[in-house]
Amino acid sequence: MHNSIIDCIGNTPLIRLNRLSDETGCEILGKAEFMNPGGSVKDRAALGMIRAAMASGELRPGGTIVEGTAGNTGIGLALVGNALGFRSLIVMPDNQSKGKINTLRAHGAEVRLIPPVPYKNPEHFVHTSGRIAAEMNAENANSAFWPNQFENLANRDFHEQTTGPEIWEQTEGRVDGFVCSVGTGGTLSGVGRALKARNPDIKIALSDPGGSALHHYFAHGELKSVGTSITEGIGNSRITANLESAPIDISWQIPDSEAIPMVYSLIRDEGLVLGSSSGINVVGALRLAQDLGPGHTIVTLLCDSATRYMERLFNAEYLQSQGLSLPTWYQP
Ligand code: PMP
Repeated sequence: MHNSIIDCIGNTPLIRLNRLSDETGCEILGKAEFMNPGGSVKDRAALGMIRAAMASGELRPGGTIVEGTAGNTGIGLALVGNALGFRSLIVMPDNQSKGKINTLRAHGAEVRLIPPVPYKNPEHFVHTSGRIAAEMNAENANSAFWPNQFENLANRDFHEQTTGPEIWEQTEGRVDGFVCSVGTGGTLSGVGRALKARNPDIKIALSDPGGSALHHYFAHGELKSVGTSITEGIGNSRITANLESAPIDISWQIPDSEAIPMVYSLIRDEGLVLGSSSGINVVGALRLAQDLGPGHTIVTLLCDSATRYMERLFNAEYLQSQGLSLPTWYQP
């Protein structure tokens, strides 16, 4: 029996991706983070940051969690907050899909929409959320907690304590490589550190989408945004505190022209209905398998479900505008 929904976060299954494993002669395994109760890997970060703030006294009974996020983290924070007796206020840009806004509201979060501006502008939704929390705390001490997921190391630490060790145990220590994309960097850094601590020979790889500056940074030493992508929740233009300590050996930029067809193939060949960041991750796993050669075990993350991105992933007009197309099996 579980004592609350909180106990259902983590301990996700590791699933063999059969077509790619058979084609490469490697074991290519996906950690099913979409099976977390909030439907994504970000339930872990939410729980890690909330637990740390409760332990430090930053988050007290009756407190409100205030975060700037456009997606999965907000859902995780609202869900964990509800289960532990905290309200949540999510600040997001007003150009986000109605689906995301409605999903957050359905999870009981108060959603505040503000105009989208670049990160360096103080009116950016992340800075605005920090300011709102600070104002609430100035008025009423400890009434608000700002998780600040990009810079809060409780995000990385939770992956280091749970996701990484789970992968080690589920593969009985036979993992040779781990690859995933980066939003905050909490997942790659936390899992990478946990695996390297157990076996420093395990290769840790970054699969970066178009539009992100991170691949260029790890390959050439300079933050430079290259290309574009329809993926959401991944890529970054800066090195966050969570990413700083990531033990990265290899990096690739994965184009949408490979990642999106991979999303459709996972649906049709494996019965796995996953979002676009999982497509980037699985193409990364394929590249790592090809690099290491047959006989190796590669793990990646299956972050969330395709159902969160229907307006993009199954919209012929939108796909065409991005130089992409629906799979031949899709019946509109
Ligand atoms: N995939 C999805 C769908 C996400 O929402 C996120 C987080 N924004 C990530 C991957 C990246 O995870 P992290 O923040 O741990 O780097």
